Amino acid sequence: MARYTGPVCRLCRRERMKLYLKGAKCDTMKCPIERRPYPPGEHGRARQRQGSEYLMQLREKQKARRIYGLMEKQFRNLYVEANRQSGVTGENLLRMLEQRLDNVAYRAGWGSSRAQSRQFVRHGHVSVNGRRVTIPSYQVRKGDVVELRDKARAMIVVRHNLDTLDRQMPPWLEGGDGGFAATVRDLPMREHIDVPVREQLIVELYSK
Ligand code: SF4
Repeated sequence: MARYTGPVCRLCRRERMKLYLKGAKCDTMKCPIERRPYPPGEHGRARQRQGSEYLMQLREKQKARRIYGLMEKQFRNLYVEANRQSGVTGENLLRMLEQRLDNVAYRAGWGSSRAQSRQFVRHGHVSVNGRRVTIPSYQVRKGDVVELRDKARAMIVVRHNLDTLDRQMPPWLEGGDGGFAATVRDLPMREHIDVPVREQLIVELYSK
């Protein structure tokens, strides 16, 4: 599946907030949002903060899509699936985004960003229930045990992340094996998903 390969800090600047797409750099003064907290481009400063209802909905959707690193088609397919399920569509959508394997690797603190976690998955460093899985969009289920494989456990970047990131696992995940494993205790609830997204606006956008 395709992924965005352009400059990522521009994405944060477009949303006027930190989306934490770059890992360690995001918490330093090198973060462009600290110096230029307005949208990129020649007319970035002149852009209106408040816009139409449609603009607000669009921005929420783009924000969620960028945080989780999905392209439009994949994101929309996820919405269709979320809409088909019973329950609140917006919550279903966020839950499915959280259940992605690359997000679990990120929440476990193995990758400094979702992009790095995605790379770990693509490179075969992550297994689910003892089987190697290389699909970042793989949906984990309740009871799944997600682990870093042996080679990855010795990688300096992984050890550095585990030592320095100090990321707390969400309540729906349970750490184990010295931080190299995470068990899905339950499906994520909305209150356990800390992304700054108003999912209802996304639903309104797509249901037009
Ligand atoms: Fe966003 Fe991180 Fe870049 Fe700052 S450093 S603009 S938070 S990706």
